[in-house]
Amino acid sequence: MIFPEINSKLPNTPESIFSKMSGMASQYQAINMSQGFPGFKSDDYLKELVFKAMKDGYNQYAPLAGIPELREEIINKIENLHGKKYHVDSEITVTSGASQAIYCGISAFVHPGDEVIIFKPAYDIYEPIVKSNGGIPVPIQLKGKEYQVDWEEVETKISDKTRMIVINSPHNPSGSILSREDMLRLEKLLKNTNIILLSDEVYEHIIFDDRKHQSASAFKDLAERAIVCASFGKTFHNTGWKMGYCVAPEVLMKEIRKIHEITVFCVNHPMQRAFAEYLKNPETYLSLPNFYQQKRDYFLDLIKDTKFKTVPSAGTYFQLVDYSEITSESDILFAAKMVKEYRLASIPVSVFNIDQQDHKQLRFCFAKENETLEKAAEILSKIG
Ligand code: PMP
Ligand code: GLN
Repeated sequence: MIFPEINSKLPNTPESIFSKMSGMASQYQAINMSQGFPGFKSDDYLKELVFKAMKDGYNQYAPLAGIPELREEIINKIENLHGKKYHVDSEITVTSGASQAIYCGISAFVHPGDEVIIFKPAYDIYEPIVKSNGGIPVPIQLKGKEYQVDWEEVETKISDKTRMIVINSPHNPSGSILSREDMLRLEKLLKNTNIILLSDEVYEHIIFDDRKHQSASAFKDLAERAIVCASFGKTFHNTGWKMGYCVAPEVLMKEIRKIHEITVFCVNHPMQRAFAEYLKNPETYLSLPNFYQQKRDYFLDLIKDTKFKTVPSAGTYFQLVDYSEITSESDILFAAKMVKEYRLASIPVSVFNIDQQDHKQLRFCFAKENETLEKAAEILSKIG
């Protein structure tokens, strides 16, 4: 045997719960509301633009940072929405989805022994990226049914080893958001430190009930230390295209680009051409809160008389449901049982919590056609 023992860099990182639950959904032919992806087609016009770019011969490498036309559109969008003007040459990079932006953002700055504060439940890539760079994740559990940050606790967890804080609003998996007050509190807390803020804003356009997304780019003192990561996958129903970007001050972006260069160098050229044109119409993303709020409200209304209890999601296309009136079974077992016996797949939230704390909650992705939501609700009404 050439490798009798592999010295894994990530020995305790299990298979992603998203692959696991989507795999089970397919095995049992269940309705799949587990892994977060929209059940809608991409806009035909956007697809035509990609096709046109291919026909026009954009089939070689794009510039490392992304094509200038797309960078310009993104920067204008951020300025219009949040009042911050990033520099088109030095403060933006187009990436292979937000995942690669997050990977570059963490890898560029986290050295062995550095601490990174991560709010739990957390999207599952932050911690392994920190660990694979020798960093130490410092988890802080969000509090209560609405998953709020306890800023006093954050203050106690900041040390001279803290290199980075990761925030994610609107938040996956809870659907909670950070308010303006939260951001101001964070800004105050980080003043006079050299802590970098990684702000994962992939659900920036999926926010409900007239709430406003509080981007780190909108707060002057936060923007000076922030790497803001975003994704076209969530916004334009095409998670499989793996297109995203990050913005950050030049001094940070210079380092991020070094990791970007050695991981992918550049991303899909025809799609960059297409998005550069498509983003010229702001309706394509400004219509999203309304679209998804209707989905959320429809799903909540359909399940209101079941034994599953909910606090309406404030953003994202996820809704948590509490099943504690039905059974005391663990969420992992209950989620598996729902797939096998009822043919409905969701995500058990405990996998994202500190010490796998189990609050008897499942996450449902409601980015689906109404017919799918109706079928899911019918199943839920029969349970318990
Ligand atoms: N951050 C969060 C919170 C996510 O939910 C996701 C993916 N669903 C990502 C990052 C990754 O985005 P992308 O698919 O663009 O890589
Ligand atoms: N972000 C998606 C979710 O939360 C899944 C992404 C993935 O499968 N890696 O469900």
